[in-house]
Amino acid sequence: TVRVRIAPSPTGNLHIGTARTAVFNWLFARHHDGKFILRIEDTDQERSRPEYTENILQGLRWLGLNWDEGPFFQTQRLEIYKQAVQSLLDQGLAYRCYTTAEELEALREAQKARGEAPRYDNRHRNLTPEQEAAYKAEGRSFVIRFKIDDDREIVWNDLVRDKMVWRGNDLGGDMVIARAAADGIGQPLYNFAVVVDDIDMQITHVIRGEDHIANTAKQILLYEAFGAKVPEFAHTPLILNQEGRKLSKRDGVTSISDFKQMGFTAEALVNYMTLLGWSPPDSTKEIFTLSEAAQQFSFERVNKAGAKFDWAKLDWINSQYIHVMPVDKLTDLLIPYWEEAGYKLTRGREERSWLEKLVVLIQPSLTRLVDAVAMSKLFFTDAVEYSEEATVQLKQEGVASAIEGVIAALQNQQEFNEASAQDIIKQVVKQQNVKKGLIMRSLRAALTGDMHGPDLIQSWLLLHEIGLDQPRLVQAT
Ligand code: GLU
Repeated sequence: TVRVRIAPSPTGNLHIGTARTAVFNWLFARHHDGKFILRIEDTDQERSRPEYTENILQGLRWLGLNWDEGPFFQTQRLEIYKQAVQSLLDQGLAYRCYTTAEELEALREAQKARGEAPRYDNRHRNLTPEQEAAYKAEGRSFVIRFKIDDDREIVWNDLVRDKMVWRGNDLGGDMVIARAAADGIGQPLYNFAVVVDDIDMQITHVIRGEDHIANTAKQILLYEAFGAKVPEFAHTPLILNQEGRKLSKRDGVTSISDFKQMGFTAEALVNYMTLLGWSPPDSTKEIFTLSEAAQQFSFERVNKAGAKFDWAKLDWINSQYIHVMPVDKLTDLLIPYWEEAGYKLTRGREERSWLEKLVVLIQPSLTRLVDAVAMSKLFFTDAVEYSEEATVQLKQEGVASAIEGVIAALQNQQEFNEASAQDIIKQVVKQQNVKKGLIMRSLRAALTGDMHGPDLIQSWLLLHEIGLDQPRLVQAT
């Protein structure tokens, strides 16, 4: 069976690139009825933080990318890596290298002077026991290096990028797989721990960003050294910014929790990420659930070229989801944004029915959930602030008396509903012989402080329910 994994390092919040890799892994696993495994690569103890791990787990859950096994933590597996290092040492496939930092620096300088790429020259590959003893006596520390044959050709058939060919020569000399510890073998390095884990977790397909291609060449050699079956590899295109460079922290928003805070829904974001580098067989259909995408997912339709991040498209997809969302669910999603903005759900606003009517009113105009804050401000503040246009409108001739007419008519109402609001307007039109448009515009200015906005009558009804319409009309005259 298919077994895939995602292996984020908790050195930052869940990044959009990692999340998109998770999406592709998830889709592939579900398509093949396989397993999706989560592994936290927390061996970098200086940069790893538990709050980042928490952010990653929450982000994946929020996106609906449920995992079948894990999370596994590399820091809990150090003993396994040590044993694996030892087995390579025992087979003579790895060795202790005592080259000092200064010596390595001098080597790099010399290579640079000759115009060569920096690489380790394998100088400690064949130390005699006496030489080793001498270095130890000097008090030198060591790293463990894995032997890489310069002439080796490394070939794999990448599921996205087709045939890949690397030479041992390109890999920078014998590679460091672990550091020393006081009592022997210490911290494993990334490329090594990954292979040990992927073998142990029986990963069949390694799906990750194309920035890992050079690692793959090295990792294949390690699989061979362990006598393990080499998995399939799929290197997915990078996500690019507007300038066509890799999307990075410098581009501002890059973590999933930021997108959430900006008002993107999980469904829309995950839908958009699916389209970052992949397209369904019917490429005109752009709105789909994760499971729909999973049914159709294959690497044949994953692009080789980088995928440009397109805010306008993400916004469009987000609005599609919001516009058809059940009111009940949308209300639940909006409440935290209102609370975050400091709006108080009091004095009638705590009524679920009132809130849901407000949501129905603004739903068609929402692109991001957070837009609800600005759009509904007028319902959460007692005094209106008038825009310039609204001030001009209220100063027009006949407006004050028209509004007074509305106030008077309002006082005679027993019950107030859409029909009575229309009636009041009709009455005032007749009594004062003014145009309906003038009254409508003036009411909007008086009630909302603005000349644009959601349906006027519905807004009025909502304000009436929380007792704000009359004071505002009075304020406007
Ligand atoms: N920890 C690596 C990363 O976050 C994992 C890469 C891999 O999938 O092997 O980039």
